[in-house]
Amino acid sequence: AKDRGKSTVAVYESGLHALALEKMAIRGELQVAIREQQFVLHYQPTVNLATETITGFEALVRWQHPLRGLLPPATFIPIAEQSGLIVPLGEWVLREACHAAVTMQTPVQHPTIAVNIAAQQVVQNDFVDLVIDALEDAGLEPQQLTLEITESMLLDDMAGAIERLAALRSIGVHVAIDDFGTGYSSLSYLSRLPVDILKVDKSFVDEVCSGSHGASVTEAIIAMGRTMRLTTVAEGVELPEQAAWLQGAACTMGQGYLWSQPVELAAAHHLLRSGVPR
Ligand code: C2E
Ligand code: CA
Ligand code: CA
Ligand code: CA
Repeated sequence: AKDRGKSTVAVYESGLHALALEKMAIRGELQVAIREQQFVLHYQPTVNLATETITGFEALVRWQHPLRGLLPPATFIPIAEQSGLIVPLGEWVLREACHAAVTMQTPVQHPTIAVNIAAQQVVQNDFVDLVIDALEDAGLEPQQLTLEITESMLLDDMAGAIERLAALRSIGVHVAIDDFGTGYSSLSYLSRLPVDILKVDKSFVDEVCSGSHGASVTEAIIAMGRTMRLTTVAEGVELPEQAAWLQGAACTMGQGYLWSQPVELAAAHHLLRSGVPR
């Protein structure tokens, strides 16, 4: 039994070692990928729940890996964050998303573009200037851009983050709290945050029709959003029953596979012309 214990530890350790090597390999490849722009954005529509018309898109990054194919963000965003590479990657995403949003504007449609922003990006001294430059460079109105942040990222330098987000909001950029309800001590400082939009996390939306507490939590978040005059967006809506429940609860917007998965830019243009298929 002793021997077996020993070899289990050895296997476990070599497993960890392999994982660490794998991470290091990905980190090196990420550096190359940023230089060679091996990334692509997919766009998922948000719809007005009352009319089910498209109000905008969220830009979601994928890595077009030369050998491994199209990789989802879960496989590389955490490594990009640990290594600091999220800063240049995030800048590319922001600029690319602003350019894409300009191509979506028509005389009658003005969809917004939502971009996920990592904590390390907001703490950069030039973050405000970078966002303004990305808007100007693309020719996008600030009102058409939404920055999605999470509650937890504000813990490091809350005062600085608030100041920067407030500066961007004063020129018209919108700020959304992503995955709302899953973060730490959200309620205590929500009133101090310069935000416009609450995105209700999928884990709550999943439960709105299941007779569990998820429905009460979602109801409370929507009610709070209404009181604070914030737009509420339900994330990860998959079922017609969920959409009906959210419409009844007067949630402002919805996003999820029910209307569309994240799609390439050309397909996003098509959705804008034809409407979501529901
Ligand atoms: P998120 O910001 O919460 O984005 C929503 C995720 O849920 C996306 O996964 C989207 O494809 C997925 N989703 C949307 N509707 C549904 C649905 O109805 N059912 C299910 N099962 N999933 C749905 P994705 O694209 O894999 O992105 C995962 C996460 O990676 C994002 O979560 C975000 O935290 C991060 N991420 C993506 N792009 C970026 C980026 O450019 N920068 C940063 N910092 N993070 C990013
Ligand atoms: Ca998001
Ligand atoms: Ca989210
Ligand atoms: Ca999420």
